Amino acid sequence: MFTAFLIKYAEIGVKGKNRYVFENALVSRIKAVLRKCEGEFEVPKTDGRIFVYAKTDFDYDEVTDALKCVFGISGICPMVQCDLVPVEEIGHKVNEYIRDNFSDRNVTFKIATRRANKAYPLDSMEVSAQLGGYVLDEFPEMKVDVHEPELMIHVEIREKVFIYSTEIPGPGGMPLGTNGKSMLLLSGGIDSPVAGYMIAKRGVRIDAVYFHAPPYTSERAKQKVVDLAKEISKYTGPINLHVINFTDIQLHIYEKCPHDELTIIMRRYMMKIAEELALKNECLGLITGESLGQVASQTIYSLAVTNEVCTLPVFRPLIGMDKNEIVAISEKIGTYETSILPFEDCCTIFVAKHPVTKPNLNVIKRHERNLEDRIDELFKTAIETDEVIVIE
Ligand code: ATP
Ligand code: MG
Repeated sequence: MFTAFLIKYAEIGVKGKNRYVFENALVSRIKAVLRKCEGEFEVPKTDGRIFVYAKTDFDYDEVTDALKCVFGISGICPMVQCDLVPVEEIGHKVNEYIRDNFSDRNVTFKIATRRANKAYPLDSMEVSAQLGGYVLDEFPEMKVDVHEPELMIHVEIREKVFIYSTEIPGPGGMPLGTNGKSMLLLSGGIDSPVAGYMIAKRGVRIDAVYFHAPPYTSERAKQKVVDLAKEISKYTGPINLHVINFTDIQLHIYEKCPHDELTIIMRRYMMKIAEELALKNECLGLITGESLGQVASQTIYSLAVTNEVCTLPVFRPLIGMDKNEIVAISEKIGTYETSILPFEDCCTIFVAKHPVTKPNLNVIKRHERNLEDRIDELFKTAIETDEVIVIE
């Protein structure tokens, strides 16, 4: 019975002359997610509104689930439709809509009509008034309240007549592709997939890099990261996932540097490699799942030392969040179950018992000089042997 959707968008409405850029990005993202759904759809954009029209049968849940992943959408209103029939017949359709969708009819209501199609013989006030009368005839328990109705029934008169009332919340944010691209450091944990989701929500496309340390980290650990990338790609669109073999760099650091500084030095090399990949792939920033104080390598002192190797901006959207807040988002976006699978992580494999929490940059840099004999070559090889997995 639902054959169309009105797509509501909030924030992109205020972008002045660039508005069409945002609307077009939203339309193209909607089309992209609908291509993966069964059925055929049209996504017209008329008088500042975006619609989805189903041209064939479709699976309602599949389509609404897909639209719920499109950043930029604030609400999705499922609509029923009829032809441009006389108002009495629209009345039948409205009554049928109410009967099918609302079992509790002890409510106040209002009909709000928009007549985009000026060829329709009655104006919007007349249509609303007449339809209101038909509703009262059919459902005497309903009452009109034009100021604060409990049930607002919208009627849109276009090339067809559309009726809707309920609004399914969308994810909000801004359409993908309106804000460039960034490189996400994606591990198998809870945090980094959430961080990628949050930056993508602001319109940023995502590429990702995963540091793999075989045989210390297994194929299953890598597969887990691929699975997480697939899960967030429902929201972020296609992701090029770069898998970097980090084993030799890690072993070299292990051999040559104090063990309590291992994690921090390793983190600096991860950031350096990520930045190099970012620059090669038109990314304008790096994204990590770091949260202030969560672990030794995420104290404010450690973050300053890690950050020192980067020139690109590093986006840390979780920086001020508690773990339970991050977990709540990961559950909402569907990454939590995968994130908690117990596979080894290259950050924890060589981890010291008492890692430094207040690293000193000069000391760290001095110890990194121990790596000089081979690090450039290892760095180069790591980048050259980059395995790119395209996640769609
Ligand atoms: P996460 O839950 O995202 O793994 P975490 O709390 O385990 O985070 P760390 O292991 O200290 O924190 O890592 C901090 C950030 O560094 C991660 O959020 C991620 O962005 C990045 N990172 C850590 N390990 C890797 C890895 N093996 N590959 C890619 N990025 C990584
Ligand atoms: Mg981790």
